[in-house]
Amino acid sequence: MMEYEDHSSVLTIYKSFMKSVHEWVKKVMTGSPVSETPQKPVPDSTKPASGSVPTPAAKTPPQKFHPRPVRSNHQPKGGFNKPAPKEQTVHLPNGKLLRIYPLGGFEEVGRNCLVVDVDSDLYIIDLGLQFPEEDMPGIDYLIPDLSSLRGRENKIKAVIFTHGHLDHIGAVQHVMAQLHFPPCYGTRLTMAFVKKRLDEEKLTSRCRLNTVEFKKPIKIGSVEIEFLRVTHSIPDSAAIALHTPYGTIVHTGDFKFDLTPMNEPPADFQRLAELGEKGVLAIIADSTNATKPGNALSEKAISGTLFNLMREAKGRLIVSTFSSLLNRLAQVIEHAKTLNRKVYVSGRSMEQNIEIAVELGYIQVPRGMIRKVGPGMEKIPDREIVILTTGSQGEERASLARMGLGTHQHVRVKRGDTVILSSNPILGNERAVAKVVNNLNLLGANVLTNQELALHTTGHGYQNDILLMHRLVRAKHVIPEHGEPYMRAAHGDLARGIGYADNQIHLLTNGEILEFDAQGNARRSKQKFTANDIIIDGRTTGAEGQTIMDDRKIMNNAGIFVAVMKVYAESMRLVSDPLILSRGFTYGTEQSLINKEATAAIRKAYEEGLTRGDKSIAALKREVTSALFRFFRHKLDREPMVMPIIIEV
Ligand SMILES: [Zn+2]
Ligand SMILES: [Zn+2]
Repeated sequence: MMEYEDHSSVLTIYKSFMKSVHEWVKKVMTGSPVSETPQKPVPDSTKPASGSVPTPAAKTPPQKFHPRPVRSNHQPKGGFNKPAPKEQTVHLPNGKLLRIYPLGGFEEVGRNCLVVDVDSDLYIIDLGLQFPEEDMPGIDYLIPDLSSLRGRENKIKAVIFTHGHLDHIGAVQHVMAQLHFPPCYGTRLTMAFVKKRLDEEKLTSRCRLNTVEFKKPIKIGSVEIEFLRVTHSIPDSAAIALHTPYGTIVHTGDFKFDLTPMNEPPADFQRLAELGEKGVLAIIADSTNATKPGNALSEKAISGTLFNLMREAKGRLIVSTFSSLLNRLAQVIEHAKTLNRKVYVSGRSMEQNIEIAVELGYIQVPRGMIRKVGPGMEKIPDREIVILTTGSQGEERASLARMGLGTHQHVRVKRGDTVILSSNPILGNERAVAKVVNNLNLLGANVLTNQELALHTTGHGYQNDILLMHRLVRAKHVIPEHGEPYMRAAHGDLARGIGYADNQIHLLTNGEILEFDAQGNARRSKQKFTANDIIIDGRTTGAEGQTIMDDRKIMNNAGIFVAVMKVYAESMRLVSDPLILSRGFTYGTEQSLINKEATAAIRKAYEEGLTRGDKSIAALKREVTSALFRFFRHKLDREPMVMPIIIEV
């Protein structure tokens, strides 16, 4: 799970531009009706077309959650080419049957969501979010596409959360209403984090939240649900065993086998082995580090290194890590307590997480030892201070980056400060982290990272952890989860290596359905559920992702070009030359020249279309769009977003 950067600046530009288009159109119209929404052009070359065109509305009204399937050429997702999503109509056969289908988390690390369908009763495991990648401008995050559950809401028996990380619970406040508020289950800390998400949207009172204890199975419908302790990087992480009439399904959740865990008990090896002894039909298991040989390093090793460094530091200590690594935060706080240092926290997500953990007793500190960074800090001697901060991934707006730039409101980094980055840069963040480290060095700080010292370990098991899980549980079928396809494929290879046959290893993608027969054999259904990108964008929830992201990318790369054509309602003939408005596209003398030629091209295309007998607004707009595409490509080798608008007078 990772933190994210804010791309909202692009969004702001986009919104303000759309507003100006809208106002401008209103002016031009002088009361005339605008034609229907401008639409997607039909380009005439092999080059990919731009996405469809947004409506000229001031801003998108908050959409209820009605995701539509989106077709697109967009290829995000960690660098592999995901085929364009298709609209799926799935007719599940009635009758008694066990099925498993992921709706998120099988093509990405994030937005985890898996459905276990027992005789048409639905048990959902996790409702997570995915932070956007670099090529998804202006969005906050993505959530799983749950449109396939529409009409079956009353069949949802339980939503089960494995642990409190946002890639497992982060979608909850966006989808509870859509799912008709099904009962939710999770361990104590997990449910505290779920509640926090729901509180923010004032939904808690409508939800049925249930805290479950480890080793105390609960019966829901025909299924007995059992939470088993695993070690990860946040306390109370669970694997889930679903005892169905067809056999036991084990979902590992995020795990590593830490034999010397800090701040939490070890995993429940005994119970996992016991389940294995009794027989497990299928295991759905974490694949995040399936490509990495050996064992994941124990949190204890990190804790020892951290303690030594913290003890040796003469001046202030600034420690940066993920706000989600609660066990690491707990270690730093524990060491600070031992070394008589006060802890100052900088960064909202970190403050909130620590607050919940302290409130519930997962971090135990004397009153007043943990504070927010703020005025008054300078009165405390440097060697009595630890500053815990977000921004270990080099995120521009996070506290650590601001400290490096000297723009942090309360912390001025100076000679004598020791900065510890207890994290690893996530793929793609290396440059941003290096920038922050450089800045901190320039200010005179001594910066220590995981490159020189063991200052970070993962919460996800390496190959040996994964193999140990399979050796304990010995499931008949293996379903690698939580990972991009290459991670899950590596997990499949691991299973093959310990004797699993190909028909026992199931590499599903989001939306694919695995069906079990009475003999316990499993096969992939020919049918597939829709699993599109659903984006969350500020307060607007549930806008469908791909088109909007494509549009933003096009505007980001090549700008936008709007042509307004005033036409006589009867004859559809142009009243005057089309009006042109563009942004981020051409400038200065080039602009007026291009606009002049574009005007001629529009006129020509429009009139030719009319002469051919095109009377429909849609067809005429298509003509104009295609002509403009040809013109821009030929003239400028660029593809701005093109928006033709026809106004009848
Ligand atoms: Zn996790
Ligand atoms: Zn996770």
